[in-house]
Amino acid sequence: MEDGPRGAIVQRDRTSYAIVPRTPAGIVSPEHLESIIKVVRRYNIPVIKMTSGQRMVLVGIKEEDIEKIWDELGMTVGQATAPCVHYVQACPGTVTCKYGKQDSLALGLEIEELYQDMNLPAKFKMGVSGCPRCCGESYLRDIGVIGDAKGWNVIFGGNSGGRPRIGDVVAKNLSKEEVLDLTRRLLEYYRKNARPGERTARFVERVGFETIRSDLLTLIPYIPLDPTRP
Ligand code: SF4
Repeated sequence: MEDGPRGAIVQRDRTSYAIVPRTPAGIVSPEHLESIIKVVRRYNIPVIKMTSGQRMVLVGIKEEDIEKIWDELGMTVGQATAPCVHYVQACPGTVTCKYGKQDSLALGLEIEELYQDMNLPAKFKMGVSGCPRCCGESYLRDIGVIGDAKGWNVIFGGNSGGRPRIGDVVAKNLSKEEVLDLTRRLLEYYRKNARPGERTARFVERVGFETIRSDLLTLIPYIPLDPTRP
């Protein structure tokens, strides 16, 4: 998917690299943590940095060490620059949070497993929140999902970057199966219609949310034809 060393991001000094082991929905096992500590010590990796996407970046790696580190880690590559799904962040939801209304962690893990590395026109981020407090930053992700007492709400076209955009609410009160179906349809529509390098926020601004609604959303049985209907 990328040129150069596997899963490696060249750093400011143009000679060292960073790698991002895949940690779906921010979950790491004790075994993975032990592997990370071992490679950090063995290869004198100077920086371990937690990212906003609930991932761990190992920074300052020599090019010749990258393959050996991946082998010793026993973890898969978390994408960081390629045009594909980079990550699905998820809050704890009903697993541990007292405010949780839905199981955001299970849904986030399921979506991540389905779509991680899926090739798309540009990088793609998702966020799943277990209640309307929205700790999964769902309004600012390419696809966001928010749980409430009635089910799940799906957001499309959010972005938290230099040209931020609050995503559009696509559908409300969905079941988990409907969320999975809608997520797949939105990803396929975006893959087919966006320009190379065009993030969803710019894509929605260019084509208009009403076009997406009439092209795609009015065909979906669980989305009301009248968007003002609750
Ligand atoms: S979004 Fe809600 S359920 Fe998730 S961590 Fe925040 S308060 Fe808890």
